Amino acid sequence: MITPTVEIEIYEGQWGQRVYAYALKEHDARQAVINHFAFGDPDEDDYAIGNHWMTENDEDGWRITRRTVTAANIFGEKSGDFEEEETVHLIWKCPYCDQYFSEDLSKKDQPPLLLVCGCKNEMKYILVNF
Ligand SMILES: [Zn+2]
Repeated sequence: MITPTVEIEIYEGQWGQRVYAYALKEHDARQAVINHFAFGDPDEDDYAIGNHWMTENDEDGWRITRRTVTAANIFGEKSGDFEEEETVHLIWKCPYCDQYFSEDLSKKDQPPLLLVCGCKNEMKYILVNF
């Protein structure tokens, strides 16, 4: 089966060469960085690598990069009903490794969701519609 793909612009939250967070909107990527366990004061938190954003004079720091990527474009399946006050999940299958994943959905989540699978030793972006 050939997986349908789309070219999309995404925003990645990076420190150095490593991508820690990603989103379809710049604001969301920034928020995802701030919520990440790697964001914080390394003197106070073993997992944190830093809590400052890169400026022109800085050598390091968090930055948001916009990039065009090819993402798989698939449909996931919703389980649970917000009306019934159930926990709602999005069940989706990675088209590259055939593994199933479950993502918690909140009421404000609008399709599609940008998700990743780390199979094939790289981040594969996947747009999941529901
Ligand atoms: Zn995969």
